Amino acid sequence: MRIRHKRTLSAVCLLSLVFWLCGAAYLRHERDIQERLQLVGQTHAQEVAWQAVTTAHRTAMQAYFDSYIMQPDVVSILQAAQAGDQGRQNIERVRLYRRLAPVYELFRQRDVRQLHFHTPDNRSFLRFHSPHNSGDSLVASRPSVAEANRTRKPIFGFETGRVIIGFRNVFPIIWQGQHLGSVELSQPFEAVRKGLHDLDPAKDYLLLLKASVLLPKLFDEHKKHYAPSLFSQDWLVEDPRRELSDSSPPLSPASQIIYQRLKDDKAISRILAAGNPGSVAVSHGGRVYQVSLIPLHDTDGVSSAVMLTFTQAPELEELYTSYWINLWVFSIMVLFGGTALYLFLSSMQTVLEQEQRLALITSNIADGVYVMDKAGQITFSNHRATEILGYSQEELNGTIAHDLFHRHDGGNHTLLEDCPIYQVIQTRGRYEGEEQFANKAGNLLTVQVASQPMLKGGRVVGSVTVFRDITEQKLLEEQLRLMSITDPLTGVYNRRFLQETLLKELYRAERHGDSFSLIMLDLDHFKRINDSYGHEAGDRVLRHVVALMRKRIRSSDCLARWGGEEFMLLLPHTELEAANALAETLLLDLREAEVSGIGKVSASFGVTAGQPGDTVERLEQRVDALMYAAKQAGRSLSLIHISEPTRHG
Ligand code: GH3
Ligand code: MG
Ligand code: MG
Repeated sequence: MRIRHKRTLSAVCLLSLVFWLCGAAYLRHERDIQERLQLVGQTHAQEVAWQAVTTAHRTAMQAYFDSYIMQPDVVSILQAAQAGDQGRQNIERVRLYRRLAPVYELFRQRDVRQLHFHTPDNRSFLRFHSPHNSGDSLVASRPSVAEANRTRKPIFGFETGRVIIGFRNVFPIIWQGQHLGSVELSQPFEAVRKGLHDLDPAKDYLLLLKASVLLPKLFDEHKKHYAPSLFSQDWLVEDPRRELSDSSPPLSPASQIIYQRLKDDKAISRILAAGNPGSVAVSHGGRVYQVSLIPLHDTDGVSSAVMLTFTQAPELEELYTSYWINLWVFSIMVLFGGTALYLFLSSMQTVLEQEQRLALITSNIADGVYVMDKAGQITFSNHRATEILGYSQEELNGTIAHDLFHRHDGGNHTLLEDCPIYQVIQTRGRYEGEEQFANKAGNLLTVQVASQPMLKGGRVVGSVTVFRDITEQKLLEEQLRLMSITDPLTGVYNRRFLQETLLKELYRAERHGDSFSLIMLDLDHFKRINDSYGHEAGDRVLRHVVALMRKRIRSSDCLARWGGEEFMLLLPHTELEAANALAETLLLDLREAEVSGIGKVSASFGVTAGQPGDTVERLEQRVDALMYAAKQAGRSLSLIHISEPTRHG
């Protein structure tokens, strides 16, 4: 396909591109909002799950504490230890260990990893997991212990420590108002993970620990259990080689891949740096996953860990799919819209160019040109058309030519369908002829019209009409015609015209069985008038005689100058008697009328009527002979009437 309007195409392409970019940006924006809502919802759900599981655990710990620790015999051991010296304390420690060893066993089965008694001054009294390790201060490594002892209220929460990382539940031991220290029942992260897993087995969890918080607290021999996470050195993962008994199971292969892919993820880095909960979406293998980050705060409020949750996100898959479908549909729409716009503008431009070309071609021609559409409305007119018609191009365009200026039969209205100029649109033919147009001033113009249909791809779309104002030419022609049949001196018809008329009358009378008569008259002694008064006077006499005759004849009668002072009068529908009577009347008129300065003139008349078998020559000869006979019979103002018998007679 040849591109005709390159600039239009470029403009349409640019417009479509801008439109597409705006639309695509909008769709993307909508998708991002939906995605964010979904991720926010997911984050929230994860926080709630976390809260639910940790709250359940805390409640369980409280119950354990109430039922197993706060026993009179346990308390009495602690009271004895508090009151006694170092030796006493060692004895009481052993007693306490023995007393609670079965309980500790039970606790371990229920995911309690540490049962740890502390003195009121925040020293370790008895670690069930390391009974020989006691007396060390816990102020630095266990803020929760100091806090519980100080406030005498239980402290719950996540806390890193020298050995294990997990959930510390530190209960102050207060018996009958006496503060006996505190006890800690700790659970590893794995205990909570199990709880979360029970809630939703499809999810995977990974705990990240902040190096800057964890490492200073950790016993050196435990540091080997921590390795940097994929995200950065700042965040550690616990037990990557699964050496500890409380290790969480490894991530599923899919989650493992997602974790790898998040290595350099900026959103993850941002969330980690901000320390707020958040989620990110990751696509892999045609599936979408979301990873939520729930920051965990130590009991003293320090952000020390982040729990990552890996889960599939079918909602996001659906969202992305519908986003792509929308984008495709929108793109196709833009493509179609752009194409349609180009075709429309291009066709408009083609029309415009055609009109401009037409205007250029027709601007300098002497004929008026106008183009009509199928409805007969003018869509184009050239300069000459406006000159001839007196209407401006604006006045012409859009109006129906037939109604505005075309006139039929002297101004009568005709239906558009009957207009020969318009009919070429229907007939696909060509029309040429003389028509009458009325200009703006209301004057009727005679125009020579040529109209032919305008085709586009075999379809008629309108017509082109070329017209020429021939009003003056027609007038001139008429004048010439009149001159050619008129005697210039007297204004009556000439001999040739009468002969033609006579021939027609012969045929007409014969066809209809009608009558007609012919009168010939010759002025008497006309030569003398010329001789006596001059040629001018003779002319005057000729006009005088014509004026007299004109008063007596009908408009249908044909009066002609036959020769110098000879006239012929053709009377249709006239019997001989009537013609004779007319000749008599004319004789009398001549006798009575006087030409000023000359006096009276007379003429000799021959009168005859048409007879079967007559020809023009025979009629002429006969009437001439009659007139001549009248001359011979005396002329000098006397009438000699010789008539032949009528066809009836
Ligand atoms: P008659 O009674 O026999 O008809 O005699 P006449 O003199 O009328 O006829 P004749 O044929 O001898 O003369 C006709 C004259 O008419 C001759 C010519 O000079 C004159 N004549 C012809 N045409 C014109 C004209 O146009 N104007 C004038 N003034 N005279 C004309
Ligand atoms: Mg004469
Ligand atoms: Mg004569």
